[in-house]
Amino acid sequence: MFLISSLTTSAQDVHIDGRLQPLLNEFFEICKSYGIDYHDQFFKLESIDIVNTLTVSEEASTLGMLRRNSNGEVIAIDISWMAQLDAEILKTVAFHEFAHYFLEYSTHICDDCGKIMSVVNSSYFDIARDWDNQVKLLFEESPALKKKYALTGLTYRLNKP
Ligand SMILES: [Zn+2]
Repeated sequence: MFLISSLTTSAQDVHIDGRLQPLLNEFFEICKSYGIDYHDQFFKLESIDIVNTLTVSEEASTLGMLRRNSNGEVIAIDISWMAQLDAEILKTVAFHEFAHYFLEYSTHICDDCGKIMSVVNSSYFDIARDWDNQVKLLFEESPALKKKYALTGLTYRLNKP
């Protein structure tokens, strides 16, 4: 409740699509449980939105993307309307893009290995079935968390929630 109210009162400049808001809240709750600070990054954004501007083709459609300004700074997280065709796809794509930005994944971890940070995912269903474990890996293997532990010198605990 605190998170929701603090976002709505202080984040008037960041436009968030209502369909992505619950996923963003869930993502931020997990950030909090790992002690990852997302506030500064969040307020640098203009929008987290569902858009119809990403490439759609038979071979490959872009389901999500970080949009940058001319200085190369991320200003928006764009999710394709196509990702909405299935709730599990939307959730995976949203967490993938959130992780690129908030967890500082500047690259992907593999081409198609059935993880959230794969370049492509042939089966969103496999990820959905293994969701809690997938999210745990996403956070625990993230550059943001590794950086945090390197900075604080704290011991990395694999049994964190
Ligand atoms: Zn990606």
